Amino acid sequence: MFTAELDGQPFTTTVGKILCIGRNYAAHAAELNNPLPDQAVLFIKAADAACDLRQPLQIPKDQGSVHHELEIALLMGKSLKHATPEEALDAIAGVGLGLDLTLRDVQAGLKQKGLPWERAKSFDGACPLSPFVSAANVSDWHNLHFSLTRNGQLQQQGHSANMLYPVAQLLSEMSSVFTINPGDVIMTGTPEGVGPLLPGDQLCLTLEDWLSVTSEVSA
Ligand code: ZN
Repeated sequence: MFTAELDGQPFTTTVGKILCIGRNYAAHAAELNNPLPDQAVLFIKAADAACDLRQPLQIPKDQGSVHHELEIALLMGKSLKHATPEEALDAIAGVGLGLDLTLRDVQAGLKQKGLPWERAKSFDGACPLSPFVSAANVSDWHNLHFSLTRNGQLQQQGHSANMLYPVAQLLSEMSSVFTINPGDVIMTGTPEGVGPLLPGDQLCLTLEDWLSVTSEVSA
């Protein structure tokens, strides 16, 4: 069980399921040679994938490359089912950053065979989460800048304006398939620049001037 932090306090409920979207940024879909889907590619990480980004990251060994996917993460404060985009925005408690850690070689093998992705995406610790700040900070969901440096090198730089499914529409779409509950986390997709993590890597993640979080990959 993992409890997220909102404005410096433990959130009222532990993290539930983690709802994710694949290919929400065209430039990232292109870098993996994936066509743009005609329907949102949704998948779920289990609650045990959630962990504290500030603690040394334990990544699987001997399963090929582990890629970082930097994403804006949303901590949900209300239930949603068949929500309109307006209702959806009102249910967001906090905004932060997450890493959708992906065993890229494992995923490639599963994709090739048409098999589910959980082994590559939903292993324990596959979703390190930053602390969250109140969603009340956000005046425009289409204008959020975020970045990831690895060992001092800029790897990923995102702007929410480039989301194919912007936050409100994404939540509305997800809630038409899955009931969203308080404590659930939404991962909003990764911009281009994904790449492998190695033991000892030093990471720095930023979201606007609200968050600047450092982390390292366990040696
Ligand atoms: Zn992702």
